[in-house]
Amino acid sequence: MAGLYVHIPFCKAKCRYCDFVSFPDCESMGEYCAALLKEMRLCAAALPRQTYDTVFFGGGTPSILPEGAISLLLQSLRDSFEIAPTAEITIEANPGTLDAAKLHEYKAAGINRLSMGLQSTNDVLLETIGRIHRCTDFVQNYESARKAGFGNISADLMYGLPGQTVKDHLDAIEMLYRLGIDHISAYSLIVEEGTPLYMDVTYGTESLPTEEDVYLMHRRGMEFLETLGYARYEISNYAKPGFASRHNLNYWENGQYLGLGLNSHSAMRVDGKWLRFANTARLQDYIRNCNLGQRPLAEAPQEIPRAEEMFETIMLGLRKTSGISEAAFRERFGEDAKAVYGAAFAKLKKRGWLLEEDGAFRLTEEGLDFQNEALLEFLPD
Ligand code: SF4
Repeated sequence: MAGLYVHIPFCKAKCRYCDFVSFPDCESMGEYCAALLKEMRLCAAALPRQTYDTVFFGGGTPSILPEGAISLLLQSLRDSFEIAPTAEITIEANPGTLDAAKLHEYKAAGINRLSMGLQSTNDVLLETIGRIHRCTDFVQNYESARKAGFGNISADLMYGLPGQTVKDHLDAIEMLYRLGIDHISAYSLIVEEGTPLYMDVTYGTESLPTEEDVYLMHRRGMEFLETLGYARYEISNYAKPGFASRHNLNYWENGQYLGLGLNSHSAMRVDGKWLRFANTARLQDYIRNCNLGQRPLAEAPQEIPRAEEMFETIMLGLRKTSGISEAAFRERFGEDAKAVYGAAFAKLKKRGWLLEEDGAFRLTEEGLDFQNEALLEFLPD
């Protein structure tokens, strides 16, 4: 299993909480896409050939690209890489940059999963966090997407927003359920230093809900989603049966993926070595390198030692509610997880945070709430 990720680092305007590598100035969009096409060819020539089972256009805002651009990028991916005929192909979209024509284009190009950033159904909250869209934009685009033939649609929600109540969060879930959405990601807001929202909160222009209320949003949101038939399969992700994101599951299984575009990251097995590499985060360097026929890497690929690969497999795998298959761990590393991490398992089981059943080990609900603390037990002394 391997995934392809394509990063589109442009947005119509910067959300007040965002610290991702994305630019509200779209002047370089054309040059960037041309560089991306070159990077595809450079990577295809440099890396071992393999079949990719998922493709993900993420950002930034991939849907900000003008009509025709995504089809061109996807066609070039197909020309350079082998993409499985059954591949899950996702595009992330901001409801403020979508329309029926773009949705038809995506569907015709072969995109079969749409992931829209809604965040909240309360327009006042959307305004507070600087989203460019309103709830009606989401609903209209959702309906257009269904008409265009999308059978797999996901929405992102956020909780812990300034001024948000538990009811706001539950109302958003209920609206998505009534629309018939297939998949919901629910993330807790993290106020990152240096963002406009950080200043709002620091200087008291905005105030965050109490920790207790944020916990209630998480807890009651999770219970409500499960009652409505969305199974939690990862800390922040819920899906109707058969709609879990294959692309993201591959990350949590510590699988291979190739990232293309600005600041994208990759993990690949090359000549038996587990390698990680990342592209530069500087837009002009990215474009220049691609134009010079050089891969736009930030630094030389790094070989990950086996012990680190094992820890990463544990760290990522324990985010999934299904946990880590003992057989898969044995197959990958030639050792039993219990033999390597016996002491950690014993401690976590004693605290009620880890369960072992059906040939897998996984965190309990409480263990998932304290995942960071639980993972400390797996670190070498
Ligand atoms: S749309 Fe996404 S990437 Fe763009 S500014 Fe908002 S949060 Fe950041």
